[in-house]
Amino acid sequence: MQPYRLPLVPGPVRVPADVLAARGQDYPSPDQEEAFFTLYQRTQQRLQTIMGTAHPPAIMLGEAMVVLWGAMKSCIVPGDRVLAVSTGLFGEGFADMARGLGAEVRLLDFGDDEAADPHRVAAEVRAFRPRMVTAVHCETPSGVLNPVAEIGAVLDRHGVELYLVDAVASIGGAPLSVDEGRIDLCLLGTQKCLSAPPDLGIVAVSSRAWEAVERAGYAGYDALGPFRDAVAKAYFPYTHSWHAMAGLDVACRLLLEEGLEAAQARHGRVAALCRRLGREMGLELFPRHEGASSPTVTAFLVPQGIDWATLQRRLRDRGLVVGGNYGRLAGKVFRVGHMGTQADEALVTEAMGVIADVLP
Ligand SMILES: *Cc1c(COP(=O)(O)O)cnc(C)c1O
Repeated sequence: MQPYRLPLVPGPVRVPADVLAARGQDYPSPDQEEAFFTLYQRTQQRLQTIMGTAHPPAIMLGEAMVVLWGAMKSCIVPGDRVLAVSTGLFGEGFADMARGLGAEVRLLDFGDDEAADPHRVAAEVRAFRPRMVTAVHCETPSGVLNPVAEIGAVLDRHGVELYLVDAVASIGGAPLSVDEGRIDLCLLGTQKCLSAPPDLGIVAVSSRAWEAVERAGYAGYDALGPFRDAVAKAYFPYTHSWHAMAGLDVACRLLLEEGLEAAQARHGRVAALCRRLGREMGLELFPRHEGASSPTVTAFLVPQGIDWATLQRRLRDRGLVVGGNYGRLAGKVFRVGHMGTQADEALVTEAMGVIADVLP
């Protein structure tokens, strides 16, 4: 039941039939089945290729937020210093989470329409000496893509212990190697570039981060600890979802069959197309400097002469659904999500045609 002919929300995205078919079967209880552990490990291996890491990631049951909270809670103890590098809502969210855990937090805010500057991160690291630095690769509400690998190199030079990166809306569509970026905790969701439904959270964990997890000893539904040797012990901390894992496994296979570089190139082409068509109809890009934009989502200013509610209603009447916005950008910036299955030239061309038609 997809009521929209043209779904272009920046996640959850349209799910391919093969992924739906893998999920739509009956499976035994996973707990004691070797086949389930085989499936889990195969999916881990596929994700390692997609994420560029030598470390098998934890795949947790829950929407992507489960790993945003779980990774932070599993490493941070009260009094730790956390530097949150922010270009918007998700960046600020990490500052709020860390504060909630009793950390001493500094927010390095670059505003909404500019990418983070690694030189300013370096200066802040020297002044504040954080134990953990957090960053967001694609800040989905503004469409800003941050240079997280360059920031990782800076943190490496300064000996920062833990680097946590939210790459939920970028991996699979924008190039990023977790290990080359020196990322200790890299978070990924299923409903963005992987084009699966929103019910698993993925986190690649470095050896250094596993040590931090052991030391912190956090226990809870979202705790990372039990996933370290879940396969070796053949024991998950709760009943996993075979349906969700089967779907994710197929989603990863489809991405790897296309080829990671080919998929990234497709995202780049579609993003450029979306931006060109937007400019041609007089829309203003957000961020204004296109070099700061992610290949997975394009944000535009809501144009003069129409308010967001009216624009949204007109688009939905024509079968097109795009993303609105939150916080400071609510009503001012809207977003075309061209990630995963939605990074499709024909789909985006048709959608942009609908937008051109309904503008005043
Ligand atoms: C989608 C997304 C998440 C997961 O958040 P939801 O709002 O629950 O979908 C986390 N981080 C980023 C950058 C995202 O785009």
